[in-house]
Amino acid sequence: MRGNKLVVLGAGGVGKTSLVVQYLEGFFSSSYKPTVEDCYRHTIQMPDGIFHTVEILDTAGSHHFPAMRELSIRSGRGFVIVFSVDDKQSFHEVTELWNLITKLRGSQVPVILVGNKSDLNKERKVSEAEAQEIAKDVMNNCRYIETSAKYNVNVSQLFVQLLLQAKAMEQPP
Ligand code: GDP
Repeated sequence: MRGNKLVVLGAGGVGKTSLVVQYLEGFFSSSYKPTVEDCYRHTIQMPDGIFHTVEILDTAGSHHFPAMRELSIRSGRGFVIVFSVDDKQSFHEVTELWNLITKLRGSQVPVILVGNKSDLNKERKVSEAEAQEIAKDVMNNCRYIETSAKYNVNVSQLFVQLLLQAKAMEQPP
């Protein structure tokens, strides 16, 4: 059993910690503190009213801990792959993470692609269409959501959607 562990992956500085903190604690901080790994326990109320306890794992963005990242991927129930819409390099890293997930877990895993910092529209380097295309053509038709951890846009939707997807995928055919 993998429990209900949702794993948040993505390059350093894209806003993984900010998304998790905004979702769980309801605030945003502009100070930047690189994460090694933090795990939070939380209760999510689903659209049907039922509560589910989830663990949310905020991972390191850097490649300094490859063994740790593999372990997180092996233990995850669902995955959030985050890039920042103002950072092309972070978008390139999405494919790398997707490849690692499919290598370790196959392609039938619940994944949501997230373009964070949607409030930085003027500095945007990755278009919504480009991201949709990767989600569809490369990432097995996964869902794409744009978020702003800063202004709390689509943040709770993202975690609820991922859990819904994980629940749907565990139904027998
Ligand atoms: P992580 O390394 O992926 O966990 O990234 P952090 O959550 O630490 O965020 C990195 C930086 O981006 C911090 O300075 C945050 O304040 C900033 N940031 C995170 N999310 C947003 C967002 O939605 N909009 C803007 N404008 N800045 C953000």
